[in-house]
Amino acid sequence: MASEEKKKSAGYRLARYFLQYKYRLLGGMTTTAILGGLDVAAVTGISHLVDILSEIATIMRNGGEFVVEKHIDYVDYTLRITSFRDIALFVGVIFIAVFGKAIFMYFHEYLMNSAAHKILMRLRLELFDKILVLPMKYYDREKTGGVMSRITNDVVNIEQSTASSISLIKNGLQVIIFIAAMLLTSWTLTLFVLVVFPAFAVLLRVYGRRIRSISRRISLNVADITAFLQEKINAITIIKSFTRERDERERFREMAYENYKYSMKNVRQVATLKPMNETLGSLSMVLVILFASYYFVQGEMTMDVMTRFILLVLLAYQPIRTLGKIHATMQKALASAVRIFELLDAETERRDRPGAIKLADVKGEIEFRNVSFAYEPGKPALRNVSFRVPPGKTFALVGPSGGGKTTTIKLIPRFYEIDEGAILVDGKDAREVEISSLREHIGMVTQETILFADTVFENLRYGKLDATREEVVEAAKAANAHRFISEISKGYDAFIGERGVQLSGGQRQRVAIARAILRDPKILLLDEATSALDSESETLIQAALEKLLRSKTSLVVAHRLSTIQNADRILVIENGSLVEQGTHGELLGKGGLYRKLHEIQFKD
Ligand code: ADP
Ligand code: MG
Repeated sequence: MASEEKKKSAGYRLARYFLQYKYRLLGGMTTTAILGGLDVAAVTGISHLVDILSEIATIMRNGGEFVVEKHIDYVDYTLRITSFRDIALFVGVIFIAVFGKAIFMYFHEYLMNSAAHKILMRLRLELFDKILVLPMKYYDREKTGGVMSRITNDVVNIEQSTASSISLIKNGLQVIIFIAAMLLTSWTLTLFVLVVFPAFAVLLRVYGRRIRSISRRISLNVADITAFLQEKINAITIIKSFTRERDERERFREMAYENYKYSMKNVRQVATLKPMNETLGSLSMVLVILFASYYFVQGEMTMDVMTRFILLVLLAYQPIRTLGKIHATMQKALASAVRIFELLDAETERRDRPGAIKLADVKGEIEFRNVSFAYEPGKPALRNVSFRVPPGKTFALVGPSGGGKTTTIKLIPRFYEIDEGAILVDGKDAREVEISSLREHIGMVTQETILFADTVFENLRYGKLDATREEVVEAAKAANAHRFISEISKGYDAFIGERGVQLSGGQRQRVAIARAILRDPKILLLDEATSALDSESETLIQAALEKLLRSKTSLVVAHRLSTIQNADRILVIENGSLVEQGTHGELLGKGGLYRKLHEIQFKD
């Protein structure tokens, strides 16, 4: 889709969000209309007052009597002023309009802005929901920072735009009301106000286009900055150890400079647009004053009409100017809306097929039947892999790095959809099963241990949200994690991560294993779960794992000889193909790849 079209459809979609809160908006618009009406009323009152005062002044100067009678046509009422007290009363009536404005202003702000904030919350929730259902593939491709900047930066731009949209509705309505009042007062003078409008339109069009394209660049740049920061903060150890601070600083400076450059481009556009806007506005004002005074002097226009008209032009001036500014913010917001809707429209993880079955009472058999899979077309990561893990058995996956071990493991919970063949759990094709019920029976310990910034207790309980304190402690004991947890201050209630306790790699791994134990899944997938450990942690974990593996079907990517030897069967994967399988003894006897790997790794 062309970017222009995209923007248009993004605009319509954003408008649809607004329509969901139509009653609030309708209420808000009603208050705007009332506010505008009260403004017109006050102006009308003031113009009558000026008229009356000038008349009284003339009468008094000529030694006449303090009596003025004024017929007000549109209410067909004759106003009779005979003392200064009557004038004060009249001023009081004008004040009522001003006071009424104060009351309606509150409701106006409340109604308009509550709709805007509801829309923002909805967008944030929808984006996060989307993040949870995006396929793994999406995250392989996109930078985390880029995704994040859509929820942070782009939503904030939308926030400004909702403010602008509201401002658009409000100021637009005001302009309409004021122009209607002008037309009723004097249509000839109104023409002089409107004469500059086409010029306004041309200005907005030209500048709108420029500002839009600059805004898009800025959005992309902010996404880059977010992604960059995210990556560098995570890699701070590497940056420091390779002393690359200067290079990183230089790269960051370039991005920051680019941001500055485009922001200034934007500033220059706005800075030239503003005075032009102002000049056009003043021009129409000058024209109006000039012709109004001409008509007045000629006796073709009363003092009343002239004053009211000039006051109305003054009133309309502010909203018209604001409308000019809104255009620029709206352009920026539309650029962000496009990015947000792009994420919302991204293809989601393939959900359950119609009639998908719920997996219950799983025995835990896993079978790969001629499975082929490629992350990218043409580069197969697994080719025609077949094996069967009977319930309760432990299979070890070994092979050179990059062979496809992690891939094999990730395919079981359907993180990726396979291209050919089938993966069966308890004899049922995993594709015919509800994803959530499939994943419920799977426990996973990944190579990098991922813990959340929360207490030790909550981290453990992530595996089973309704676990009791006893169950949690039980699981920690089974993973040989209870001892060290008890030793840290606050124990299970200690905070992990930022501004909390720092755990060693081995400790974190044991927490992760305890988390998997607590879930008590029928199928356990361990990806090099013990590779990052020191020898003490390793012995502790090894013992914990053996207990854990006994009752479960498990697929273990292993480097430790003991884990491999104890496995019921060993699968050797190289270059995406299953090249050998058998027990430790069988494979050693065969003298193939396994034997070679074994000799290299366990020479001693
Ligand atoms: P192992 O775990 O045996 O070291 P992997 O299963 O991680 O191997 O990788 C198998 C192959 O798939 C490698 O060639 C690797 O480059 C590729 N690969 C792994 N993950 C991805 C991914 N997310 N996107 C694209 N290619 C990938
Ligand atoms: Mg791996």
